[in-house]
Amino acid sequence: MYINKAKKIVIKLGSSTIVDKKGNFKKKWLLSLIRDIKKLKKNNQEVIIVSSGAIALGQKYLKIKDKKLKLEMSQAIASVGQIHLVNEFQKTFEKNNIKIGQILITPDDTEQRKRALNARRTFENLLKIGAIPIVNENDTTATSEIKYGDNDRLAARVAQIIGADLLIIFSDVDGLYKVSSNKKSLITKVNNIDEKILSLVDKKIYTTYGSGGMMTKLEAAKICMNSGCHMIIANGKHFYPIEHLNKNKLFTWFEPKISKLDARKKWIISSLSSSVKIQIDQGACRALRSGKSLLPAGITKVFGRFNKGDNVLIVDEKSNEVARALSSFTSEEIDKIKGLQSNQIESILGYPSKSEIIHKDDIVIL
Ligand code: GLU
Repeated sequence: MYINKAKKIVIKLGSSTIVDKKGNFKKKWLLSLIRDIKKLKKNNQEVIIVSSGAIALGQKYLKIKDKKLKLEMSQAIASVGQIHLVNEFQKTFEKNNIKIGQILITPDDTEQRKRALNARRTFENLLKIGAIPIVNENDTTATSEIKYGDNDRLAARVAQIIGADLLIIFSDVDGLYKVSSNKKSLITKVNNIDEKILSLVDKKIYTTYGSGGMMTKLEAAKICMNSGCHMIIANGKHFYPIEHLNKNKLFTWFEPKISKLDARKKWIISSLSSSVKIQIDQGACRALRSGKSLLPAGITKVFGRFNKGDNVLIVDEKSNEVARALSSFTSEEIDKIKGLQSNQIESILGYPSKSEIIHKDDIVIL
């Protein structure tokens, strides 16, 4: 089975997995996970943990019971709770002679290429010195525009950046269910996140404590599958959760296709940005699919504002997703020169510039 073969495993713990219903940290459960991790380490497998729970623990400590928190309140609560969360991890891992390091990240750390490479180096160095990285979103400074908002996609993006081969998401459900005539059946394997799979997300079945839900888990699976990383959704309620996975095989397994993309292209394809788009005509679609760069002549519309180097989604005129790419021009510039021939760019913009809006090396076809 694959769990034993994975070299680098990211384990994501949802709030309900690490904090009980009364708001207490689940020490005994963590201890059982650590026993499992020790076995993985013995088998030369590297482990990275992404843990939620800062807000849940902060609420308990501050005696704040509200279910719906305002963003500025959750920032303050997370600031208090994160100390408790990482303290609990530190104490429990220390007892087992395992060192840990804390990494708090914001979307910029994964969505900007330079910062993503920097983050990757930090992960690699932590693993080199034998410390397990414990990751959470930096909730204290994250505002709604610059927030992952859920640790599922964050964990997938981390898995992709560090080249993990497996992401295990421990949550409060056994996996993805199919419901037909009131009967729930667990889907054990998914090879493709298509409309059929997405339509299985029924909010009534999945009631979670954290911010995610099944939809963000499927988005995480998409990121993993595009990066050649396997992903598992499993129930984290069992003690010795990894041993339990191996024995009981109760989970949904997302199997990636073999990816021929290099690390940079995997990073481009799994960007989280969704609001900025470039719409192109049929001719440009064909050109892109045959490996050519994007020229202004084929561009019909620009949606949203972006800078040079930003990740954009390229769509056709029917809004079908065609590619992900890093733009060499700003949205304002593209808006001025869209539909024009390359030799007209300089006179319109007023300065010399290259003719490719996006170079072929910066385009990944979806
Ligand atoms: N970062 C949040 C916390 O630590 C949790 C986000 C999530 O539930 O995915 O409380």
